[in-house]
Amino acid sequence: MVVQVHGRTVAFMKVTRVAYSHRLNTGKYTALAEQCRHLGRVRSEVWQRYGSVGGAALSDRQVRDRWLADGTHVQFGVLANAWKETVRDAMAGIAASRAAAQLAVKRAVYRRTTDPAEHKRLFTALKSGRWADDPFLARLMRKYLARGHNRTRNQIVVRADQHNTRADESGRLWLAVPGLVQRKMIRIPLNTTVAPAGTLRLILRNNRVEIHYQIDAADMPSSQRPCGARAIGVDKGYTEALTDSDGNHHGRRLGKLLTAESDYRKAKGRARARLRSIANNAAARGDHGKADRIHRNNLGTMKRERRAARWEAQVRTETFTAVHQVVDKASTVVAEDLTKTFAGRKNFGRNTNRRLAAWTKGVIAEALTNVSQRRGSALVHVNAAYTSQACHRCGTLGNRSGDRFHCTWCRVVWQADVNAAINVLQRAADRDIGLHTPHRVVKQILRARTDRHRTRLPVQDSSRHPAAESEISELLSNEQEAER
Ligand SMILES: [Zn+2]
Repeated sequence: MVVQVHGRTVAFMKVTRVAYSHRLNTGKYTALAEQCRHLGRVRSEVWQRYGSVGGAALSDRQVRDRWLADGTHVQFGVLANAWKETVRDAMAGIAASRAAAQLAVKRAVYRRTTDPAEHKRLFTALKSGRWADDPFLARLMRKYLARGHNRTRNQIVVRADQHNTRADESGRLWLAVPGLVQRKMIRIPLNTTVAPAGTLRLILRNNRVEIHYQIDAADMPSSQRPCGARAIGVDKGYTEALTDSDGNHHGRRLGKLLTAESDYRKAKGRARARLRSIANNAAARGDHGKADRIHRNNLGTMKRERRAARWEAQVRTETFTAVHQVVDKASTVVAEDLTKTFAGRKNFGRNTNRRLAAWTKGVIAEALTNVSQRRGSALVHVNAAYTSQACHRCGTLGNRSGDRFHCTWCRVVWQADVNAAINVLQRAADRDIGLHTPHRVVKQILRARTDRHRTRLPVQDSSRHPAAESEISELLSNEQEAER
């Protein structure tokens, strides 16, 4: 969807909404779960045949036609619309994983060379699918496109014209979706008064059906609020979601939410490990009743997952509110591209703190994109290399300790995240440092600038820099302002 906002054309993105089943009976849940298992086999077959590195670039329509021609579809025992939608969904998943791999390879190319001709050659090969001929590209694509497998066995995709919603006498909505048998719909009571629309994704979890669907972000109330008029740089934080280049902090509850959740999950994990070993010992002794009771009553996942969902909702609210506050004053938001750091997320393993922080970073990235698009502000991504280690005033690479940044040249202590946010803002106008300029080149550029800067200034002695006194007092007054 494309609309005009303040004379600018803005393409609005879709946001996902989720409705839940309300007291769904076991028989219906079992029937839906059965359908999910059948469709899981469809997904696995698609990934198996077309998900590999060498997989042909077919469209979902071509796959459908092939399966219809050779009778592949018969073995799954599901209705035609159901498997066709699942093929479409799985093919989209494969395309997305290819695109993600290509993006990762593109970044690696930027790290490898700065030669524009070489960039062009490699990107053309990547785009046209001829990367297998180039050893460098082939190696990287194999690395990032590790042969995928389907692990999804709890979903049903329902096309827009295959479902309907009706209200009963009490006003409760019932969603009817196809079952495994022709013309026998399964009616699901919903917990909401808003009928899900468009293509639905049913996800079965904990005896409850989640109904995921998308709406235009433009239809949401907050899209009415116009954005501000200035350019603002932001730095993502831990104790707060964002610090802006004016020195204001937004989303201050985020740190507490993260710490509390991390502590809770660690304690809970230890308690569960203890209970599991008690259950195992009981089972070893032959006391299976006790082992079963512990597994059923103390080691379930339903409560845990609902609690996690509540916590995630709180983090999202805090983060989106923070971004809205920035966009209130910004027509251009300048930020680090936070999506870039996701690749490493898997490596955090059991480290709860880092896993939660990485997830939160994803929410900040999503909020920046989403809110900017909805409210018509521009989001500019910049290269954030050394933005937290360089002084925004003179460019000197200094020492960051905790929330303080000490510039050895200016002899000034800045608030580290404010200093970083100002650097981020300045990067948008930096003609030498582009989005993909490698880390070490950024360092060289910064060094060269401070060297030039210094040769123009009188030789510094060991006494305090003449400008330092006034800057310290300026900083102190700024900080007092920030406190208020
Ligand atoms: Zn400085």
